[in-house]
Amino acid sequence: MLVKRGIAVSPGVNFGPALILGTEDFRIPRQFVSVNVIETEIARLKSALDAVCEEIAENERLASDKLGEQYGAIFAAHLQMVSSPRLREEIETLIREKCYSPEHASSRVFRRYTKLVQHLGDNYLAERASDIIDLEKRLLKQLLGEKREELSNLTTPIIVLANNLTPSETAGLAKEFVLGFATEVGGRTSHTSILAGALEIPAVVGLGDFLSDISGGDMVIVDGNNGEIIIDPDEETLAKYKDTGERQRSMAARLAARRKIRSETKDGTRIHVMGNIEFPNEVEHCRERGADGIGLYRTEFLYLQSNTEPTEEVHYDAYCRVVQAAKNRPIVIRTLDLGADKIPRGYRHLAKEGMNPALGLRSVRLSLRDLPLFKTQLRAIFRAAVHGDVRIMFPLISTLLEWRQAKMIVGDVLEDLEERGVDFNPNIPIGMMVEVPAAALLAEEFAEEVDFFSIGTNDLIQYTLAVDRSDPAVSPLYNSSDPSILRLIKMVVEAAHKKNIPVTVCGQMSSDLKSIPLLAGLGIRQISATPLAIPEVKEVIRHLTIERAEEIAAHAMTIDVARDVESYLRGELYKICPDLFDEELPL
Ligand code: PEP
Ligand code: MG
Repeated sequence: MLVKRGIAVSPGVNFGPALILGTEDFRIPRQFVSVNVIETEIARLKSALDAVCEEIAENERLASDKLGEQYGAIFAAHLQMVSSPRLREEIETLIREKCYSPEHASSRVFRRYTKLVQHLGDNYLAERASDIIDLEKRLLKQLLGEKREELSNLTTPIIVLANNLTPSETAGLAKEFVLGFATEVGGRTSHTSILAGALEIPAVVGLGDFLSDISGGDMVIVDGNNGEIIIDPDEETLAKYKDTGERQRSMAARLAARRKIRSETKDGTRIHVMGNIEFPNEVEHCRERGADGIGLYRTEFLYLQSNTEPTEEVHYDAYCRVVQAAKNRPIVIRTLDLGADKIPRGYRHLAKEGMNPALGLRSVRLSLRDLPLFKTQLRAIFRAAVHGDVRIMFPLISTLLEWRQAKMIVGDVLEDLEERGVDFNPNIPIGMMVEVPAAALLAEEFAEEVDFFSIGTNDLIQYTLAVDRSDPAVSPLYNSSDPSILRLIKMVVEAAHKKNIPVTVCGQMSSDLKSIPLLAGLGIRQISATPLAIPEVKEVIRHLTIERAEEIAAHAMTIDVARDVESYLRGELYKICPDLFDEELPL
């Protein structure tokens, strides 16, 4: 049994057989075979190994003829490895003694060698590990056939393990079969992590190097509460996790029963709790959990899920579905936030352009550069706004000029729609996200012109602290409790109050229970959280008084180190609602 620690990004606990992506690319469907077929399975292994040897020998001939003997020698070394009697014997022994399937046994043996080579302390040899991985792939291809496992075509439940998953790969996960996922890289608020929350799949990221410790088909527990994965758990550990799963389900049921109770503080202040969504079907999840509306609809996922550019009708249909499902509750549609880690297939060039894509042509900057793209989306939003309470929000606004340009495009779009003679609603609120420090610093000026603010703490933290939100190497520096963040939020709230415009917090900070008293104390009366967190966020609000929240915020503002603010807030949360949390379920 091996325990690995990473960053918990989507709560819940699940276990199942591992499907390793990235290095394996093949799915190992069976870990064991029955005793009576062992000889047949060994024969299958032998013919697969022979086929691999033939394939490599052919490569050796080709490389030697075309490129010279020295290149052929690379394959000669591979051939030597695969035809080594010791390797064959090791795999056979695992099949005979442990009843492992040839695929599982081979994967285990190759991975053991990969690991040994990686840890010899010699850089040149460590690089040879990729040769062994390549041999493993060749053998698995022979044993399993050509078929590469498509994440979207799964047929049995598995735990997905990968070096990394892009947001579009994550969006394509078949939720009914993916019990959990874990990746070597990734950060707390990377879009892959946010999606895991949206799909409600327990997930751990930023685990560091672990794929060579595991083979496809091995049993794995993903503990999305504590940020751990457990490889090959023993019976006792497995039983403990089954029990945790049960208790969590009963806690969720208890909260679900209270979902219709309004989120109002004990002294009668209403704090609206909205939901963040990426897909139209999530409106239902928000409603089931008692959300007051949709505070952030990340529309770029329309692009990330598709191979072709969505037409105006595709946008319109998606927005109408959201409006219909929201049943008159407000919906804030954010215009495209493409770029950085959210790159659709047709826009791969964006990823290559700059060294720092998070500082590059992303988000509203991209929309302003590609006006047909921007206008298509805006037309669809104004048309859908006929059917419900729709609002528009521009992401990543950094300067007043950018805001004014975006508003000008809105003017053009309204004229187009007028000319076309279609039904549309021109009178809808238009606001902006405050997620760039420059915008927070100029909040008073912006507040003169916008209809509302929504504070995007995910990017605000990244840009204020200069910490890549998806890089585990700097994740300890990424902290929503940093005094600089508290000050920026306070500035934005004060500017909004002064000009009498609404202000929401929609970054992950608003799903983090310990931050709720602080935000309420800073004057936030609207929160937009990930759907899973909504019942608990509402529960915390119902345990609060504004007076206490203001004291907590005032005290937090006097602390000068993020870590101390964090532990203070955590302590206060426990005092405010001790009954809400099971001691063993960390927040
Ligand atoms: C944010 O930056 O806080 C935000 C809500 O936007 P996203 O996470 O989509 O970048
Ligand atoms: Mg953002």
